[in-house]
Amino acid sequence: MKKTNDKLSGIKIKNGVIRDSHNKKHINNNFIKNRRKEINIESLYENIKKGDRTSLSIGITLIESQKNLDRKLANNLINKCLSQKQKQTIRVGITGVPGVGKSTFIESLGNKLVNNGHKIAVLAIDPSSKISNGSILGDKTRMAKLVKQDNAFIRPSANRTALGGVGQYTRETIILCEAAGYDIIFIETVGVGQNEISVSEMVDFFLLLKLPGAGDGLQGIKRGVIEMADAIIINKADGDNKIPAKIALNDFRNALHLYKQKKSLWQPKVLICSSINETGIDQAWELIKSHQNITLSNGYFNKNRAKQNSFWMMKSIENQLKNDFFEDKKIQSAIKQQIKLVRDNKISPFQGAKFLIGLYKSSL
Ligand code: GDP
Repeated sequence: MKKTNDKLSGIKIKNGVIRDSHNKKHINNNFIKNRRKEINIESLYENIKKGDRTSLSIGITLIESQKNLDRKLANNLINKCLSQKQKQTIRVGITGVPGVGKSTFIESLGNKLVNNGHKIAVLAIDPSSKISNGSILGDKTRMAKLVKQDNAFIRPSANRTALGGVGQYTRETIILCEAAGYDIIFIETVGVGQNEISVSEMVDFFLLLKLPGAGDGLQGIKRGVIEMADAIIINKADGDNKIPAKIALNDFRNALHLYKQKKSLWQPKVLICSSINETGIDQAWELIKSHQNITLSNGYFNKNRAKQNSFWMMKSIENQLKNDFFEDKKIQSAIKQQIKLVRDNKISPFQGAKFLIGLYKSSL
């Protein structure tokens, strides 16, 4: 594992320990376990509302816990947060291949926003399935300046498929961060398939970062990702990359016209920036703000958040039913038999599925 400078590192993940550099305490499962009996949700909620970072970290750890008791506490906490009247917040999803400059971009934009009086949270969704196994996002020194800001909270977000499945933890963490007064939430994810879909279903604005010249035009990008994007920003438009970045800008602008209009009535935009030189960053923020203004005034913003709520409920039902089904002991033994029959063409796959579902239902 790469050694990181303690002073600079935002978050380190080692053996299940999550460390927020602002907190001197290590918040991990043992920490929660030892203090579970002491956790009073009412006072935890009050402290989160006051902006206490340790309380926020404890809340997030509860959310990410797989223990039933913790889930109950977490649900109680989330309901309290949801019932609170909130100031306007914005949730921005940022995706792109590793190395495109996501963390540098967030560092650059985030510092500007904090200096303008915003409180920002950065939740990095890790493609590795378990947070305790360490991660690409957690290993490196990231957002060195931002991490020292009192009004910035940076944290990797678990991406397990158990219980509520991909996305549930991040969704609930967003709610907690907003209750703690963070008005701009960045959700960063590495561009690997399923993650992007989940992220686009939990944000108000979805941003795709690209490299100049990489993939030439639209090649190499999944069509679905382009359709999700509210903006494509070509990063690293500096030095020798300035001209390729301008070419890419035109290519993307032309290509985006081929896509049908979004339900938000927003026409996706393409920009270039240099996160290192901090050029184009103000324009990127203006774009995000103008999307927010337009969608707030045409009603899409709130309609979309409501739609996302129902999406996550349906997703959660799907995941919980799936988990219950596959964890059922009877199913676990019968499934092997059915797989064999299906593989040997003795029964059709649909027959096999019907039999197993019938077996499951009969044990309810
Ligand atoms: P991530 O993996 O997408 O989060 O990418 P990083 O933010 O870690 O950046 C990857 C590398 O690209 C780092 O060495 C950055 O210094 C560099 N980088 C990021 N943004 C820019 C930029 O605008 N211009 C140049 N020239 N390099 C950049």
